[in-house]
Amino acid sequence: MKVVLDIVYDGISPISADQVYELARRQLPRISLGTVYRNLNRLVAAGLISESKAGAIQCFFPHPYSNTHLECRLCGRLYSVPFDLSLHQVAKETGLSLDGYELRLKGVCKECATRCT
Ligand SMILES: [Zn+2]
Repeated sequence: MKVVLDIVYDGISPISADQVYELARRQLPRISLGTVYRNLNRLVAAGLISESKAGAIQCFFPHPYSNTHLECRLCGRLYSVPFDLSLHQVAKETGLSLDGYELRLKGVCKECATRCT
């Protein structure tokens, strides 16, 4: 799943499942197209990537908020968290030249939190 997620995120434009499959095979030669589809659908359901359909072709791209994730300490699942950081503001304050960010929040997801109490 991580491999598929990284491929979608490394691309600069939306990518089709076939293209993800081609790239994933370089790292995991035994991965099947079905596995790639399943992972893509799971990532869409988790809100980590978005999909759009151009005619018959389904394309995948990073979710607008997906540079911020919560990694649940109990179940290990990744969730997209709506959080927006003003890069422009941070660049201005620090004098750094910034072109992106990735933030991983630590904690427990809603599902696990309900189970614990
Ligand atoms: Zn959890």
